[in-house]
Amino acid sequence: MLSMTIAENVAIAKKNIAAAALRAGRDPGEILLVAASKTNGADRVREAIAAGVDACGENRVQEMLEKAALGAYEGAPLHFIGHLQRNKVKHVVGLVSLIHSVDTLELLRQIDRAAAQKGLVQDVLLEINIGAEASKSGFAPEDLPAALAAAAPLSNIRVRGLMAVPPICASGEENRRYFERIQQLFVDNCEKKYDNVRMDFMSMGMSGDYETAVECGAHMVRLGTAIFGERHYPEKQAT
Ligand SMILES: *Cc1c(COP(=O)(O)O)cnc(C)c1O
Repeated sequence: MLSMTIAENVAIAKKNIAAAALRAGRDPGEILLVAASKTNGADRVREAIAAGVDACGENRVQEMLEKAALGAYEGAPLHFIGHLQRNKVKHVVGLVSLIHSVDTLELLRQIDRAAAQKGLVQDVLLEINIGAEASKSGFAPEDLPAALAAAAPLSNIRVRGLMAVPPICASGEENRRYFERIQQLFVDNCEKKYDNVRMDFMSMGMSGDYETAVECGAHMVRLGTAIFGERHYPEKQAT
């Protein structure tokens, strides 16, 4: 694993995604590789885009705005995948093509208002707290039908599916049961029809477990380490 290039890593990830898709009898073309590019500078993001990732996903609004100003995301759709603070919503709506991480109804309504002000419709996913972890945000699975019903009157958002981050497990295989639960939830709620809801995507699977996620139906995997290598967080600023 020493000194693999970003391009080599992207090629390997794509090969693994395709193999997992075929194992599950799926079309590899329906799975999008989202580069989770937090902590990586504009040059490395551009390298990932040149290597053929389908989208870039960012976690922090400030970092995303700085890199966007440098033109880092030219040539690929930009997604927001991190926890979105309400006071930052206006910076994100319209800049990104998809927000993966809508975790409360208040946030959903705020995105709708910001999108209305900008005269656009914002695509979003609802984050599901699939491991019922106190440390994680997201809707409880049993609250999903009510959340979708609440989305129906919001005409400036469109819910496009679900996103989940399962508990940290020792192996990707251990997460299979969580991915299967998301898939079941997705299928159950696809059948119900709500305005402004079109269940197209499950965003699940990260570097340690994306092949399992693809076997369980993921349409978007979010890969950081597998593409960019270990992350180097900047030293905490003294405040
Ligand atoms: C960082 C991050 C990822 C990617 O994590 P890796 O394990 O490095 O692949 C995926 N999703 C979210 C929400 C993230 O914050």
